[in-house]
Amino acid sequence: MGIYGKTSDNVSMPYQFAARTRKTPRSFIREILKVTERPEIISFAGGLPDPALIAVKEIAEAARLVFESEGAAALQYATTEGYAPLREFVAGRYRRRLGLDASPDEILITSGSQQSLDLIGKVFIDAGEAVAIERPGYLGAIQAFSLYEPTFCPVPLGEDGPDTGALADLLQEKKIRLFYGVPNSQNPSGITWSEKKRREVAALLREAGAVFVEDDAYGELRFSGDPMTPVKKHLPEGTIMTGSFSKIAAPGMRLGWIYAEKEVIDLLTVAKQATDLHTPILTQRILARYLADNDIDAPIRRICETYRRRCDLMGGLIDDLFPEEVTHTRPDGGMFIWATLPAGISSLDLFERGLAENVAVLPGIPFYTDGGGTDTLRLNFSNATDERIEEGIRRLARVLRTYA
Ligand code: PMP
Repeated sequence: MGIYGKTSDNVSMPYQFAARTRKTPRSFIREILKVTERPEIISFAGGLPDPALIAVKEIAEAARLVFESEGAAALQYATTEGYAPLREFVAGRYRRRLGLDASPDEILITSGSQQSLDLIGKVFIDAGEAVAIERPGYLGAIQAFSLYEPTFCPVPLGEDGPDTGALADLLQEKKIRLFYGVPNSQNPSGITWSEKKRREVAALLREAGAVFVEDDAYGELRFSGDPMTPVKKHLPEGTIMTGSFSKIAAPGMRLGWIYAEKEVIDLLTVAKQATDLHTPILTQRILARYLADNDIDAPIRRICETYRRRCDLMGGLIDDLFPEEVTHTRPDGGMFIWATLPAGISSLDLFERGLAENVAVLPGIPFYTDGGGTDTLRLNFSNATDERIEEGIRRLARVLRTYA
């Protein structure tokens, strides 16, 4: 399998595909996951929440109540902006948790963050537009934006956030319309931006008149301490935040949101009308009922405790068992550890050798919009038991010894 899987260029049919479709590859992750699904494989390649932490019973009860008391409304067409109680929940939580001055009419409910990114691309990116993104950057955003044919301008990500010197140079050099980043426990690196970097990025973008797209998929999955200050707080006008219920409730419900100024939400709403009229009202009502009848903080605490333990376990095993030259991040939240291999070892080759030993990692290459990253890999710790983490890391350590 090629690194990018099959593109539609391989199709021999009489159809004339739009150039943007031909240029956008299938998601490498989704292709790789097909290979790693076999039960004998211990996979750190995916990015799934632990299914044991999904509140199936409570969500089923919420669904029963919705069908019983509001069945027809839940099965009827609904507004594009989203179900009012859900918008109120999101805005209220921003106010309480992060001290943001959010109101429900600044929230658009979407079919997950992935759709939020697509809508942002649709509204903001003209072909050839310069879009800045962390290096490495979130693959789903690279894919969503790619369909709108931007020129990606990577900004190197250091241990405490983006290289603000490089960002300043870039903003001088080019007219950048958007900078997309994941300041909390980033996918793929697990890195959290420091408070200083957040302030610096906000100041630079304000000065340049550029917009920040703040993907906060993992903000609630912080293992300890107070929440970090969102960039949105430093740059209230000019930051579009995206959030998701995938990691704190259930990814299969496909529910997320965009939080931005009302004028921006209005344009995104038009784009969403054109895309799918509205997010399924059935799942919105079920989730709203679940949130009204349950204290979401309790499952979030359980998720954070579990992922923190697994993250520590995986990091500790890497320290103990991998060659010393392997370096890795020490995330304070989220679902991923990012490792860098000794010079000369390719993560693609490691992927192949790992599969032969029934252990899967995700090569870091597709997270780079400008090539490189061949010595990096992403390891997911949220969806494996302690025993499987231990056994999987032992297998990987054995594989790494074959390079000696
Ligand atoms: N943004 C980031 C940074 C993510 O890691 C993910 C999930 N992998 C998403 C967005 C998409 O999440 P959703 O399920 O809400 O579409």
